[in-house]
Amino acid sequence: MTETPVRILIVEDDPGIAGSLKRGLTRAGYTAETVSTGAEALAADSCDVVLLDLGLPDGDGTELCATLRGRSDAAILVITARGEEPDRVAALDAGADDYIVKPFGFAELMARIRAVLRRSRVTDAALLSHGSLTIDTRTRQVSQGGQEVVLTPTEFDILECLAADPGRVVTRQEILERVWDTHWYGPTRVLDVHIAALRRKLGDPSAILTVYARGFRLGDPR
Ligand code: CA
Repeated sequence: MTETPVRILIVEDDPGIAGSLKRGLTRAGYTAETVSTGAEALAADSCDVVLLDLGLPDGDGTELCATLRGRSDAAILVITARGEEPDRVAALDAGADDYIVKPFGFAELMARIRAVLRRSRVTDAALLSHGSLTIDTRTRQVSQGGQEVVLTPTEFDILECLAADPGRVVTRQEILERVWDTHWYGPTRVLDVHIAALRRKLGDPSAILTVYARGFRLGDPR
C-alpha cells in the first residue's frame, strides 16, 4: 500500500494567512501548496481540495470558482471575508462545496476539510487517513508515518470504527455493537484491553483519547 497524502491548494493573496494555513495543514499531515492569484491557481497541479479566498487581486473569486469547478474534481472550500449571504450563495452556485467566513478557527477549518473530503471521496472510501495514520479498509492494512502497524482483526475493527469519522466521539456501546455483535451483554472491560493494545501499537498513549462517561475518539492528527 502506498500512502497518498491529501493535496491541498491554498489560493490566498495574504502571505500571513497563506503561510499559517500551510504550516497548520502540513502539521496535520496534508500536502499543502500556496498560490496568491487566480492565474496561478488555474496553472497549478491537480489537488484534492482547493481553499479559495474569494478576494484575489486578479479578478472575481466567484468566477474563478466556476472555472475551477469546470476543469477539476477537487473539493472547493471557499474562504471569504465577506460575511454577506449573497456572496456565499454565489460561491455555492458557482460550484463550491462549502465556505468558511474569516476570521475562522483552525479547528473549524479542519472539520470542514474533513467534511468535504468525506463527501468527495465516497468512491474512494477504502482509504481512511488521519494525520500520519492511514487505514486501508480493503486490505485491512494500517500504517503510521509510513510504517506498517500490525493489528489483530479486533483491534483493526475498533480502529476503523474510530477513524471512519475522525474526531467524533464513538460511544462504548457503538463500538461493542459494531465490532463484536449487534447485541453485547458481556463486560465492556474487554474493550479497554483492546484500546490499550492499540495505543501501544500506534506508539502513542494519546492516539486514542478516552472521553469520560462517553466513549473514545482518535487523538489530534500527527
Ligand atoms: Ca484576499
